[in-house]
Amino acid sequence: MQRMPLVVGNWKMNGTIEDTLKMLTELRHKLPEASPVEVVVAPPFTSLYTAHVGLQDSAIQLAAQNMYWELEGAFTGEISAVFLKDAGCSHVILGHSERRQYFGETDDAINKKILAALAQELVPIVCIGESLEQRKSGKTEAILELQLKKGLHGIPMNDLKGIVIAYEPVWAIGAGQTATMTEIESALHFVRNVIAKTYDAPTANAIRLLYGGSVTAETAREIFKVKEADGLLVGGASLNIDNFLKIIQSYGVREA
Ligand code: PEP
Repeated sequence: MQRMPLVVGNWKMNGTIEDTLKMLTELRHKLPEASPVEVVVAPPFTSLYTAHVGLQDSAIQLAAQNMYWELEGAFTGEISAVFLKDAGCSHVILGHSERRQYFGETDDAINKKILAALAQELVPIVCIGESLEQRKSGKTEAILELQLKKGLHGIPMNDLKGIVIAYEPVWAIGAGQTATMTEIESALHFVRNVIAKTYDAPTANAIRLLYGGSVTAETAREIFKVKEADGLLVGGASLNIDNFLKIIQSYGVREA
């Protein structure tokens, strides 16, 4: 089964509205129109609507970096899927390790967010991954399975195809150290197997799996050769548009 490759740029808490517009204009201008790769960018909340306007008639899609599961009401400081849709988002990153680590997000909360995002027809980009300690103590697969099972609890098979899963080992994020190709292949293969066991093989084959963690223009070429990798979630390197473009264009090695 042919899965459309996807590259997501997570800009984290970087960029004013003006910076975002500048970066997106550069990206639009330099990205070939017939790119074989789906491209999604996730600027901060404050830039989303301006980014949406700036991306009109472009194939580049917009993601938020987080959301709350309720639709509206007395939840000071939170943003719901309804507001993300209103601002022009098609995707939302959920369960990023920085949210789990610094803001105490649990798998149960992430599960509620995934369900709420799907109900509003937003594509959830669900991040899972083990810490260094968990990897060193041989718990990588157990952690991935737990995060998947809890995170995807109650999600019907038909909706699952609309979800993207990003394997992001916590120790590789922002660390300048990419996981090895063997580690990536083995983790992604495991994730697909868990989905096949929980749902079925066609569903597991349809779902897109990304790798994220210190991806650079150099490592992207290698990662795209990994059979199970359908794309990349890129943090730091996506803030430089030339580097981000090189990463997107690395997909060519797979086609060649
Ligand atoms: C991320 O933020 O999801 C990420 C992978 O960051 P970085 O590429 O900087 O490691």
